Amino acid sequence: MPEEIFIEKFKEIFAHYPRYFIRAPGRVNLIGEHTDYNEGFVLPIAIERGISYLVSPRDDDRVCLFSFNFSEYDEFSLSDIQRSKKGWSNYVRGVAKFLVEKTGGLRGLNALIYGDLPIGAGLSSSAAMEVGAALSFQAVNAFQIDKKELGLICQRAENEFVGMRCGIMDQFASLLSEEGMALFLDCRTLETKNIPLPRGHLIAICDSKVRRELVSSEYNKRRQECETAAKILVVKSLRDATPEMLDREKLGETVYKRAKHVVEENLRVLQAIEALQKGNVALFGELMKASHISLRDLYEVSCRELDILVDIALSVQGVLGARLTGAGFGGCTVNLLKEDSRNTFEQTIKKNYKEATGFETEIWFTHPAQGGFIISLGK
Ligand code: ADP
Ligand code: MG
Repeated sequence: MPEEIFIEKFKEIFAHYPRYFIRAPGRVNLIGEHTDYNEGFVLPIAIERGISYLVSPRDDDRVCLFSFNFSEYDEFSLSDIQRSKKGWSNYVRGVAKFLVEKTGGLRGLNALIYGDLPIGAGLSSSAAMEVGAALSFQAVNAFQIDKKELGLICQRAENEFVGMRCGIMDQFASLLSEEGMALFLDCRTLETKNIPLPRGHLIAICDSKVRRELVSSEYNKRRQECETAAKILVVKSLRDATPEMLDREKLGETVYKRAKHVVEENLRVLQAIEALQKGNVALFGELMKASHISLRDLYEVSCRELDILVDIALSVQGVLGARLTGAGFGGCTVNLLKEDSRNTFEQTIKKNYKEATGFETEIWFTHPAQGGFIISLGK
Protein backbone atom coordinates (compact mmCIF):
# COMPACT_ATOMS: atom_id res chain seq x y z
CA MET A 1 0.00 0.00 0.00
CA PRO A 2 1.19 3.53 -0.71
CA GLU A 3 2.71 5.58 2.07
CA GLU A 4 0.90 8.70 3.21
CA ILE A 5 3.62 11.10 2.03
CA PHE A 6 3.17 10.01 -1.58
CA ILE A 7 -0.60 10.37 -1.39
CA GLU A 8 -0.05 13.86 0.00
CA LYS A 9 2.37 14.65 -2.81
CA PHE A 10 -0.14 13.40 -5.39
CA LYS A 11 -2.85 15.61 -3.88
CA GLU A 12 -0.51 18.60 -3.86
CA ILE A 13 0.25 18.19 -7.59
CA PHE A 14 -3.12 17.08 -8.98
CA ALA A 15 -5.50 18.51 -6.37
CA HIS A 16 -7.42 15.27 -5.87
CA TYR A 17 -7.02 11.83 -4.33
CA PRO A 18 -5.34 9.04 -6.41
CA ARG A 19 -7.60 6.17 -7.52
CA TYR A 20 -5.04 3.41 -8.01
CA PHE A 21 -1.75 2.26 -6.58
CA ILE A 22 0.45 0.34 -8.99
CA ARG A 23 3.63 -1.45 -8.10
CA ALA A 24 6.18 -2.82 -10.58
CA PRO A 25 9.24 -4.57 -9.17
CA GLY A 26 12.82 -4.68 -10.38
CA ARG A 27 14.41 -8.04 -11.02
CA VAL A 28 17.58 -10.04 -10.63
CA ASN A 29 18.54 -13.11 -12.61
CA LEU A 30 19.43 -16.14 -10.46
CA ILE A 31 20.90 -18.23 -13.26
CA GLY A 32 20.94 -18.35 -17.07
CA GLU A 33 23.30 -15.54 -18.08
CA HIS A 34 23.88 -14.51 -21.69
CA THR A 35 21.40 -17.17 -22.73
CA ASP A 36 18.47 -14.88 -23.59
CA TYR A 37 19.73 -13.72 -26.98
CA ASN A 38 20.56 -17.34 -27.80
CA GLU A 39 16.88 -18.23 -27.42
CA GLY A 40 17.73 -20.09 -24.23
CA PHE A 41 16.55 -20.24 -20.62
CA VAL A 42 16.66 -17.74 -17.76
CA LEU A 43 15.52 -17.85 -14.15
CA PRO A 44 14.96 -14.38 -12.65
CA ILE A 45 13.03 -13.28 -9.58
CA ALA A 46 11.18 -10.03 -8.99
CA ILE A 47 12.76 -8.17 -6.08
CA GLU A 48 11.25 -6.22 -3.20
CA ARG A 49 12.41 -2.92 -4.67
CA GLY A 50 10.56 -1.36 -7.53
CA ILE A 51 8.65 1.56 -8.96
CA SER A 52 5.25 2.72 -7.79
CA TYR A 53 2.64 4.75 -9.61
CA LEU A 54 -0.21 6.61 -7.95
CA VAL A 55 -2.78 7.15 -10.65
CA SER A 56 -6.12 8.77 -11.39
CA PRO A 57 -8.07 8.69 -14.67
CA ARG A 58 -8.60 11.84 -16.76
CA ASP A 59 -11.53 12.73 -18.97
CA ASP A 60 -9.30 13.81 -21.84
CA ASP A 61 -6.38 12.18 -23.64
CA ARG A 62 -3.61 13.90 -21.72
CA VAL A 63 -1.01 12.08 -19.66
CA CYS A 64 0.31 14.19 -16.79
CA LEU A 65 3.28 12.80 -14.93
CA PHE A 66 5.36 13.82 -11.97
CA SER A 67 8.56 11.96 -11.18
CA PHE A 68 9.24 12.10 -7.47
CA ASN A 69 12.84 10.89 -7.91
CA PHE A 70 13.70 13.46 -10.58
CA SER A 71 11.42 16.18 -9.14
CA GLU A 72 10.19 16.88 -12.65
CA TYR A 73 6.83 17.28 -14.35
CA ASP A 74 5.97 16.17 -17.88
CA GLU A 75 2.80 16.10 -19.94
CA PHE A 76 1.80 14.77 -23.36
CA SER A 77 -1.24 13.99 -25.47
CA LEU A 78 -2.10 10.41 -26.44
CA SER A 79 -2.97 11.56 -29.94
CA ASP A 80 0.54 12.88 -30.59
CA ILE A 81 3.27 10.98 -28.77
CA GLN A 82 6.76 12.31 -29.38
CA ARG A 83 10.04 11.59 -27.68
CA SER A 84 10.80 13.84 -24.73
CA LYS A 85 14.08 15.36 -23.59
CA LYS A 86 13.15 14.12 -20.14
CA GLY A 87 14.54 10.62 -20.39
CA TRP A 88 12.37 9.11 -17.67
CA SER A 89 9.18 10.18 -19.45
CA ASN A 90 10.05 8.21 -22.60
CA TYR A 91 9.43 4.89 -20.85
CA VAL A 92 5.82 5.97 -20.23
CA ARG A 93 5.47 7.56 -23.66
CA GLY A 94 6.77 4.45 -25.43
CA VAL A 95 4.36 2.18 -23.59
CA ALA A 96 1.50 4.61 -24.27
CA LYS A 97 2.32 4.73 -27.97
CA PHE A 98 2.17 0.98 -28.49
CA LEU A 99 -0.86 0.58 -26.21
CA VAL A 100 -2.75 3.19 -28.25
CA GLU A 101 -1.78 1.28 -31.40
CA LYS A 102 -3.03 -1.94 -29.88
CA THR A 103 -6.29 -0.70 -28.35
CA GLY A 104 -7.21 1.98 -30.85
CA GLY A 105 -7.42 4.67 -28.18
CA LEU A 106 -6.95 5.31 -24.48
CA ARG A 107 -8.09 7.81 -21.92
CA GLY A 108 -5.42 9.87 -20.23
CA LEU A 109 -4.23 9.79 -16.64
CA ASN A 110 -2.45 11.67 -13.89
CA ALA A 111 0.42 9.84 -12.23
CA LEU A 112 2.96 10.34 -9.51
CA ILE A 113 5.92 8.03 -10.11
CA TYR A 114 8.35 7.09 -7.34
CA GLY A 115 10.76 4.27 -6.83
CA ASP A 116 13.23 2.67 -4.45
CA LEU A 117 15.21 0.87 -7.12
CA PRO A 118 18.79 1.98 -7.76
CA ILE A 119 18.91 3.52 -11.24
CA GLY A 120 21.34 2.01 -13.72
CA ALA A 121 22.57 -0.70 -11.35
CA GLY A 122 21.25 -3.47 -13.57
CA LEU A 123 18.16 -4.22 -11.50
CA SER A 124 16.03 -3.03 -14.38
CA SER A 125 14.45 0.15 -13.17
CA SER A 126 13.69 0.74 -16.86
CA ALA A 127 11.48 -2.36 -17.15
CA ALA A 128 9.79 -1.44 -13.86
CA MET A 129 9.01 2.02 -15.31
CA GLU A 130 7.45 0.40 -18.38
CA VAL A 131 5.48 -2.21 -16.48
CA GLY A 132 4.23 0.44 -14.06
CA ALA A 133 3.11 2.55 -17.01
CA ALA A 134 1.36 -0.37 -18.73
CA LEU A 135 -0.52 -1.30 -15.54
CA SER A 136 -1.45 2.34 -14.97
CA PHE A 137 -3.08 2.55 -18.40
CA GLN A 138 -4.74 -0.80 -17.76
CA ALA A 139 -6.13 0.41 -14.42
CA VAL A 140 -7.83 3.49 -15.89
CA ASN A 141 -8.88 1.92 -19.21
CA ALA A 142 -9.80 -1.61 -18.09
CA PHE A 143 -8.62 -3.13 -21.37
CA GLN A 144 -8.16 -6.88 -21.65
CA ILE A 145 -4.58 -7.60 -22.62
CA ASP A 146 -2.86 -10.59 -21.09
CA LYS A 147 0.34 -10.17 -19.13
CA LYS A 148 2.62 -11.65 -21.76
CA GLU A 149 1.33 -9.36 -24.45
CA LEU A 150 1.62 -6.43 -22.06
CA GLY A 151 5.24 -7.45 -21.39
CA LEU A 152 5.97 -7.53 -25.12
CA ILE A 153 4.51 -4.05 -25.51
CA CYS A 154 6.81 -2.86 -22.69
CA GLN A 155 9.81 -4.45 -24.37
CA ARG A 156 8.88 -2.83 -27.66
CA ALA A 157 8.71 0.54 -25.91
CA GLU A 158 12.27 0.06 -24.69
CA ASN A 159 13.57 -1.32 -28.01
CA GLU A 160 11.85 0.99 -30.44
CA PHE A 161 10.92 4.11 -28.49
CA VAL A 162 13.71 4.47 -25.94
CA GLY A 163 16.15 2.85 -28.35
CA MET A 164 17.66 0.26 -26.04
CA ARG A 165 18.11 -3.26 -27.36
CA CYS A 166 17.01 -5.59 -24.56
CA GLY A 167 15.52 -9.05 -24.27
CA ILE A 168 12.13 -9.93 -22.79
CA MET A 169 13.38 -11.22 -19.43
CA ASP A 170 13.14 -7.94 -17.51
CA GLN A 171 9.58 -7.07 -18.46
CA PHE A 172 8.35 -10.64 -17.98
CA ALA A 173 10.06 -10.91 -14.59
CA SER A 174 8.47 -7.65 -13.48
CA LEU A 175 5.00 -8.70 -14.66
CA LEU A 176 4.75 -12.47 -14.27
CA SER A 177 6.66 -13.25 -11.08
CA GLU A 178 4.92 -14.58 -7.99
CA GLU A 179 5.89 -14.01 -4.39
CA GLY A 180 8.30 -16.64 -3.10
CA MET A 181 8.95 -18.00 -6.59
CA ALA A 182 11.49 -17.73 -9.35
CA LEU A 183 10.29 -17.32 -12.92
CA PHE A 184 11.49 -19.83 -15.46
CA LEU A 185 11.39 -18.30 -18.92
CA ASP A 186 12.05 -19.97 -22.23
CA CYS A 187 13.24 -17.07 -24.36
CA ARG A 188 12.31 -18.86 -27.59
CA THR A 189 8.74 -19.98 -26.88
CA LEU A 190 8.06 -17.35 -24.17
CA GLU A 191 6.70 -20.17 -22.05
CA THR A 192 6.96 -19.34 -18.34
CA LYS A 193 6.66 -21.25 -15.11
CA ASN A 194 6.73 -20.05 -11.50
CA ILE A 195 8.97 -22.19 -9.33
CA PRO A 196 8.98 -21.93 -5.52
CA LEU A 197 12.23 -21.16 -3.76
CA PRO A 198 12.52 -23.12 -0.51
CA ARG A 199 11.76 -21.07 2.60
CA GLY A 200 14.45 -19.92 5.00
CA HIS A 201 16.63 -18.50 2.24
CA LEU A 202 17.44 -15.01 1.10
CA ILE A 203 18.78 -13.50 -2.07
CA ALA A 204 21.47 -10.84 -1.67
CA ILE A 205 22.48 -8.49 -4.45
CA CYS A 206 25.89 -6.85 -4.06
CA ASP A 207 26.86 -3.87 -6.18
CA SER A 208 30.54 -3.90 -7.15
CA LYS A 209 30.21 -0.16 -7.86
CA VAL A 210 32.27 -0.79 -10.98
CA ARG A 211 30.76 0.18 -14.36
CA ARG A 212 33.08 -0.54 -17.25
CA GLU A 213 32.80 1.47 -20.44
CA LEU A 214 33.38 -1.60 -22.56
CA VAL A 215 30.15 -3.35 -21.51
CA SER A 216 28.21 -2.59 -24.67
CA SER A 217 31.03 -3.20 -27.15
CA GLU A 218 31.99 -6.48 -25.47
CA TYR A 219 28.32 -7.44 -25.23
CA ASN A 220 27.89 -6.96 -28.96
CA LYS A 221 31.06 -8.94 -29.60
CA ARG A 222 29.70 -11.87 -27.55
CA ARG A 223 26.41 -11.77 -29.43
CA GLN A 224 28.30 -11.91 -32.69
CA GLU A 225 30.48 -14.81 -31.53
CA CYS A 226 27.34 -16.74 -30.62
CA GLU A 227 25.86 -16.08 -34.05
CA THR A 228 29.08 -17.28 -35.63
CA ALA A 229 28.96 -20.45 -33.55
CA ALA A 230 25.36 -21.13 -34.55
CA LYS A 231 26.23 -20.64 -38.21
CA ILE A 232 29.19 -23.03 -38.07
CA LEU A 233 27.12 -25.61 -36.20
CA VAL A 234 24.23 -25.12 -38.65
CA VAL A 235 21.62 -24.49 -35.97
CA LYS A 236 19.10 -21.66 -35.77
CA SER A 237 20.61 -20.48 -32.49
CA LEU A 238 22.84 -21.92 -29.76
CA ARG A 239 19.66 -23.02 -28.01
CA ASP A 240 19.67 -25.93 -30.45
CA ALA A 241 23.28 -26.98 -29.86
CA THR A 242 24.28 -29.84 -27.54
CA PRO A 243 27.62 -30.35 -25.74
CA GLU A 244 28.50 -33.16 -28.17
CA MET A 245 28.21 -30.83 -31.13
CA LEU A 246 30.85 -28.43 -29.84
CA ASP A 247 33.89 -29.10 -31.99
CA ARG A 248 36.86 -27.06 -30.78
CA GLU A 249 38.69 -27.15 -34.09
CA LYS A 250 35.75 -26.30 -36.23
CA LEU A 251 34.72 -23.39 -34.02
CA GLY A 252 38.11 -21.99 -33.10
CA GLU A 253 39.18 -21.44 -29.50
CA THR A 254 37.28 -18.22 -28.69
CA VAL A 255 34.00 -19.11 -30.36
CA TYR A 256 34.24 -22.59 -28.84
CA LYS A 257 34.51 -21.16 -25.34
CA ARG A 258 31.56 -18.81 -25.88
CA ALA A 259 29.37 -21.57 -27.27
CA LYS A 260 30.36 -23.97 -24.50
CA HIS A 261 29.25 -21.43 -21.89
CA VAL A 262 25.86 -20.90 -23.52
CA VAL A 263 25.13 -24.58 -24.10
CA GLU A 264 26.14 -25.57 -20.57
CA GLU A 265 24.44 -22.57 -18.98
CA ASN A 266 21.14 -23.59 -20.56
CA LEU A 267 21.57 -27.06 -19.10
CA ARG A 268 22.38 -25.54 -15.72
CA VAL A 269 19.10 -23.62 -15.74
CA LEU A 270 17.18 -26.84 -16.35
CA GLN A 271 19.13 -28.58 -13.58
CA ALA A 272 18.53 -25.61 -11.28
CA ILE A 273 14.79 -25.91 -11.76
CA GLU A 274 14.90 -29.60 -11.04
CA ALA A 275 16.94 -28.87 -7.92
CA LEU A 276 14.35 -26.36 -6.70
CA GLN A 277 11.52 -28.73 -7.41
CA LYS A 278 13.23 -31.35 -5.26
CA GLY A 279 14.01 -28.78 -2.56
CA ASN A 280 17.73 -29.28 -3.14
CA VAL A 281 18.96 -25.74 -2.45
CA ALA A 282 22.56 -26.89 -2.02
CA LEU A 283 22.64 -28.14 -5.61
CA PHE A 284 21.07 -24.91 -6.76
CA GLY A 285 23.93 -23.04 -5.08
CA GLU A 286 26.52 -25.25 -6.75
CA LEU A 287 25.01 -24.47 -10.13
CA MET A 288 25.26 -20.75 -9.39
CA LYS A 289 28.94 -21.21 -8.58
CA ALA A 290 29.51 -23.15 -11.79
CA SER A 291 27.74 -20.42 -13.73
CA HIS A 292 30.13 -17.82 -12.37
CA ILE A 293 33.20 -19.88 -13.20
CA SER A 294 31.91 -20.35 -16.73
CA LEU A 295 31.16 -16.63 -17.13
CA ARG A 296 34.66 -15.89 -15.84
CA ASP A 297 36.68 -18.44 -17.78
CA LEU A 298 34.67 -19.28 -20.89
CA TYR A 299 32.52 -16.26 -21.60
CA GLU A 300 35.12 -13.89 -20.13
CA VAL A 301 32.69 -11.23 -18.91
CA SER A 302 33.74 -11.07 -15.26
CA CYS A 303 36.27 -8.68 -13.76
CA ARG A 304 38.52 -8.58 -10.71
CA GLU A 305 35.95 -6.86 -8.50
CA LEU A 306 33.15 -9.31 -9.31
CA ASP A 307 35.45 -12.27 -8.70
CA ILE A 308 36.44 -10.78 -5.34
CA LEU A 309 32.79 -10.27 -4.36
CA VAL A 310 31.99 -13.86 -5.24
CA ASP A 311 35.02 -15.22 -3.37
CA ILE A 312 34.22 -13.24 -0.23
CA ALA A 313 30.59 -14.34 -0.36
CA LEU A 314 31.51 -18.00 -0.67
CA SER A 315 33.78 -17.72 2.39
CA VAL A 316 30.77 -16.86 4.55
CA GLN A 317 29.06 -19.72 6.31
CA GLY A 318 25.50 -20.23 5.12
CA VAL A 319 26.14 -18.93 1.61
CA LEU A 320 25.08 -21.55 -0.91
CA GLY A 321 25.91 -19.85 -4.17
CA ALA A 322 27.25 -16.62 -5.65
CA ARG A 323 27.83 -15.35 -9.16
CA LEU A 324 27.88 -12.26 -11.31
CA THR A 325 24.50 -11.29 -12.69
CA GLY A 326 23.70 -9.19 -15.74
CA ALA A 327 25.99 -8.46 -18.65
CA GLY A 328 29.17 -8.43 -16.54
CA PHE A 329 32.27 -6.16 -16.56
CA GLY A 330 31.06 -4.72 -13.28
CA GLY A 331 27.53 -4.36 -11.99
CA CYS A 332 26.18 -6.75 -9.39
CA THR A 333 26.54 -10.23 -8.00
CA VAL A 334 23.61 -12.37 -6.87
CA ASN A 335 23.95 -14.61 -3.81
CA LEU A 336 21.85 -17.30 -2.24
CA LEU A 337 22.15 -17.61 1.52
CA LYS A 338 20.47 -18.95 4.61
CA GLU A 339 18.29 -16.32 6.23
CA ASP A 340 20.20 -16.42 9.51
CA SER A 341 23.51 -15.66 7.75
CA ARG A 342 22.32 -12.22 6.74
CA ASN A 343 24.22 -10.17 9.31
CA THR A 344 27.52 -12.01 8.96
CA PHE A 345 27.19 -11.81 5.20
CA GLU A 346 26.61 -8.08 5.25
CA GLN A 347 29.48 -7.33 7.64
CA THR A 348 31.99 -9.62 5.93
CA ILE A 349 31.26 -8.41 2.41
CA LYS A 350 31.35 -4.73 3.33
CA LYS A 351 34.60 -4.98 5.26
CA ASN A 352 36.53 -7.37 3.02
CA TYR A 353 35.44 -5.82 -0.27
CA LYS A 354 36.48 -2.38 0.90
CA GLU A 355 39.86 -3.74 2.00
CA ALA A 356 40.44 -5.57 -1.28
CA THR A 357 39.22 -2.93 -3.74
CA GLY A 358 38.71 0.37 -1.97
CA PHE A 359 35.05 0.38 -3.05
CA GLU A 360 32.05 0.55 -0.73
CA THR A 361 29.61 -2.08 -1.87
CA GLU A 362 25.88 -1.70 -1.50
CA ILE A 363 23.84 -4.77 -0.59
CA TRP A 364 20.14 -5.37 -1.12
CA PHE A 365 18.49 -8.38 0.51
CA THR A 366 15.28 -9.70 -0.90
CA HIS A 367 12.89 -12.61 -1.07
CA PRO A 368 11.33 -13.36 -4.45
CA ALA A 369 8.64 -10.69 -4.74
CA GLN A 370 5.23 -10.40 -6.34
CA GLY A 371 5.18 -9.24 -9.98
CA GLY A 372 3.39 -6.02 -10.96
CA PHE A 373 -0.07 -5.39 -9.51
CA ILE A 374 -2.85 -2.83 -9.27
CA ILE A 375 -4.64 -1.88 -6.05
CA SER A 376 -7.82 0.16 -6.20
CA LEU A 377 -7.73 2.84 -3.51
CA GLY A 378 -11.50 3.07 -3.44
CA LYS A 379 -12.04 6.83 -3.49
P1 ADP B 1 18.48 -0.02 -15.24
O1 ADP B 1 19.62 -0.96 -15.16
O2 ADP B 1 18.13 0.50 -13.87
O3 ADP B 1 17.31 -0.55 -15.98
P2 ADP B 1 18.49 1.83 -17.43
O4 ADP B 1 19.52 2.78 -17.90
O5 ADP B 1 18.01 0.78 -18.35
O6 ADP B 1 19.02 1.23 -16.06
O7 ADP B 1 17.20 2.65 -16.99
C1 ADP B 1 17.31 3.74 -16.11
C2 ADP B 1 16.38 4.86 -16.52
O8 ADP B 1 15.02 4.52 -16.16
C3 ADP B 1 16.66 6.15 -15.81
O9 ADP B 1 17.67 6.91 -16.47
C4 ADP B 1 15.30 6.84 -15.87
O10 ADP B 1 15.10 7.45 -17.13
C5 ADP B 1 14.34 5.68 -15.73
N1 ADP B 1 13.98 5.52 -14.31
C6 ADP B 1 14.44 4.60 -13.44
N2 ADP B 1 13.92 4.76 -12.20
C7 ADP B 1 13.10 5.83 -12.29
C8 ADP B 1 12.24 6.52 -11.36
N3 ADP B 1 12.16 6.15 -10.08
N4 ADP B 1 11.54 7.57 -11.81
C9 ADP B 1 11.63 7.97 -13.10
N5 ADP B 1 12.41 7.36 -14.02
C10 ADP B 1 13.13 6.32 -13.63
MG1 MG C 1 17.39 -1.16 -18.03
